[in-house]
Amino acid sequence: MSRLDSVIDRLMAQRACLDAAAAAVSSVPGPVLELGLGNGRTYDHLRARLPGRRIFVFERQVNAHPDCIPPDEDLFLGDFMDHLPEAMLRIGEPAALVHADIGTGDKQASMALAATIGSAVVDLMASGGLLLADQPFGDRRLAPAALPDGVKPGRYHMFRKTDA
Ligand code: SAM
Repeated sequence: MSRLDSVIDRLMAQRACLDAAAAAVSSVPGPVLELGLGNGRTYDHLRARLPGRRIFVFERQVNAHPDCIPPDEDLFLGDFMDHLPEAMLRIGEPAALVHADIGTGDKQASMALAATIGSAVVDLMASGGLLLADQPFGDRRLAPAALPDGVKPGRYHMFRKTDA
């Protein structure tokens, strides 16, 4: 697989997972959390797929396309761990969907970041809500959820929060 093939494969898998997750949380009340705004591609996609849902964004430094910058009141600017532990005070209700697209080119560092933020992320989720992520997360309250057809295992990760 060429590097171009790999990028296309990754983005198609990401879009398929976002679409599947958005449909799967249609009956779960609550906002959406986007961890990692980047250039705003997935934020924009979630806005389109989940109109009417408030989307809170966590990002260290905003470098997004001008059309994809969240309003100040929905942005947690800074390191994830500067805000996640206290975020419920502002968010006000458990999240139906968390999308964590947090990876850099450094696989070990990205997995370590997921391990660091995992518990605080799950604390913010509604029971029955989904965590969709580019990294594996491990938490006793998370059960693996099926990926959409055509998405290779390990390409993306989807979990449902249980009552455990
Ligand atoms: N979902 C985005 C998109 O579609 O354009 C791409 C997100 S990019 C892969 C990851 C983002 O996570 C980067 O913008 C980076 O600044 C942010 N990030 C990584 N580690 C972070 C941390 N510890 N705290 C806050 N933001 C972080």
